[in-house]
Amino acid sequence: LANRVFHPADTVVDVSGVKVGGSEPIVVMGGPCSIESESHTDEMARLVGEAGGRIFRGGAYKPRTSPYAFQGLGSEGIRYMAVAGKKYGLPIVSELMSIDKLDEFVENVDLIQIGARNMQNFDLLKEVGKTKKPVLLKRGLANTIEEWLMSAEYIMAGGNENVILCERGIRTFEKYTRNTLDLSVVPIVKQRSHLPIVIDPSHATGDRKLVEAMSLAAIAAGADGLIIETHCDPPHALSDGAQCLYPSQFAFLIEKGREIARVV
Ligand code: PEP
Ligand code: MN
Repeated sequence: LANRVFHPADTVVDVSGVKVGGSEPIVVMGGPCSIESESHTDEMARLVGEAGGRIFRGGAYKPRTSPYAFQGLGSEGIRYMAVAGKKYGLPIVSELMSIDKLDEFVENVDLIQIGARNMQNFDLLKEVGKTKKPVLLKRGLANTIEEWLMSAEYIMAGGNENVILCERGIRTFEKYTRNTLDLSVVPIVKQRSHLPIVIDPSHATGDRKLVEAMSLAAIAAGADGLIIETHCDPPHALSDGAQCLYPSQFAFLIEKGREIARVV
């Protein structure tokens, strides 16, 4: 179902009115790594919208490497996001980690993120496949393009064809960056599949100094969108501060993107 051969036309996924894919303008999704508080969520959604971001991101259920690290605000965080998203007219994207929270996400979230660590959680994929909710399927930390597309297939086989792929860097021997951004996936996925693909330069690099260059490169490569972490006080962010752009950098990046492509 994900294969271009049997479906030549580009798929455009409608995320509560924001269209991603095909000849639609490039969609920038932005927001903090973690949802931290009600007022912070409101402020971040406002800043993302003012900068030209079209979808508000934030994690309420966080897949942290250490069990002692901040695990997210859970349903409280989803509630803050839903309120801020409505207030500023931004659909919201957040990560679903377990099947038992599916109803909560179907009700409150516009785009369900399946994180890199769950790319091959086949039970989870099957369950989101039974809904009609758009899904942002991140590439696994060490998964091939073939495996990634087969995971998309799991979701689509259940009847949900609203899948957006997201490259977020893969594990290599390189230590200078958090992960290695594999931008070659953009033309490869475009050739193999009709699904939209967005790039996450934040988790791919782990370093805010590298985010702008990789974002512009992704646009030039033909990506359908970007998902970028931004925070008004990165040194004090509860997670991923080193890779979060300051809001002014986020706004500047969208301006620069507009110079090379039609960016909304
Ligand atoms: C995230 O988007 O905050 C996240 C945890 O991403 P990934 O699954 O790509 O690591
Ligand atoms: Mn993060």
